[in-house]
Amino acid sequence: MSLKRIIKIFFLSLLGLFLLLVIAAGLFIYKAKYGFNFYESTPPELPTDLGSKAVLLFSKTNGFRHGGAIKASLPAFEKMAKDNGWSLYATDNGAVFNPEQLQKFKVVIWNNTSGKALNEEQRENFKNYLEQGGGFVGIHAAGDNSHQWDWYEQKVLGTLFSHHILYPPIQKAPMYLEDGNATLTMGLPTTWVHEEEWYMFYDNPRDKGFKVLYTVDETHMNPSGKIKFLAPDKDWGMGQDHPIAWYHPLGKGRVFYSALGHQGNSFKEPEHLRMLANAIRWTGNFD
Ligand SMILES: [Zn+2]
Repeated sequence: MSLKRIIKIFFLSLLGLFLLLVIAAGLFIYKAKYGFNFYESTPPELPTDLGSKAVLLFSKTNGFRHGGAIKASLPAFEKMAKDNGWSLYATDNGAVFNPEQLQKFKVVIWNNTSGKALNEEQRENFKNYLEQGGGFVGIHAAGDNSHQWDWYEQKVLGTLFSHHILYPPIQKAPMYLEDGNATLTMGLPTTWVHEEEWYMFYDNPRDKGFKVLYTVDETHMNPSGKIKFLAPDKDWGMGQDHPIAWYHPLGKGRVFYSALGHQGNSFKEPEHLRMLANAIRWTGNFD
């Protein structure tokens, strides 16, 4: 083989490898932003002894999957349910969002759920469930911008996710507890220093009349999520009033959302588990 030919093959291979990398990066970004949508049509078989304090833990990810966090959260929620006398049913099956099965649960947790996780019919069922008195607890990615559901963004979250911190992607910052509902604030520290992939939202959910449980102190972090060419306009934070966990009634139901929970470690953090337990207690009317 001539040297010229070897050089030619070398550069063609290099070009091929580069193209593959570009395609892989493109698919990753597309999945994080829009998700690859997959829907289930066969509902799971539920245990018959769910009891009156049943919690549905839904961890489906049609978008980015927080694998470590979801894995660590399952035993943590199992233990929490056991300690409190609740029953917990964990699934990634979106077909559980049917009226018959939903009504068996007092609370539905979207555990880092991402992408368009439910089809139109399942969405409608979930909306009815909440408006008719169901409870909802949203964790971290449940509040990102991958869900593509106006009603959910407007009425459940009350704001739209813009970006998360990047420099570095995990930072430590203090959070401050606000006076409010006694079930939700019970046993929680007034100042809590936590390590997180902090989220930025376009609007302040407080402006919608939602109650804030914790704000995070932005002076202790670099809020930028700017990426050259891809996201040049994300070099900002929410400023002095940066809610990170909030709650509100929705119809006859109750909603709690917290942007915490990127890392598996956070499901070993007593304050975090306490906050989630309070959230389940309040949204499920268990107190
Ligand atoms: Zn995250």
